[in-house]
Amino acid sequence: MTDAKKQYLVIECARCNRFLLAVSTNETRTCPYCGKRLRIGHVRILASSETAEEARLVLQDLKAREG
Ligand SMILES: [Zn+2]
Repeated sequence: MTDAKKQYLVIECARCNRFLLAVSTNETRTCPYCGKRLRIGHVRILASSETAEEARLVLQDLKAREG
């Protein structure tokens, strides 16, 4: 067990530049849009939250602004 708190992250895909959710305790996340395997820690993190709910709202907001 680790003491590191699980964080829900809103990250940007390095290949297609779309936004997606990731969990900080995971090392990688596969982009659902282009299939690229992203290394968490090597991608741009736009927001982080302790709850999935909040991260989802941030993601929705970003997508809305994206058009
Ligand atoms: Zn992608």
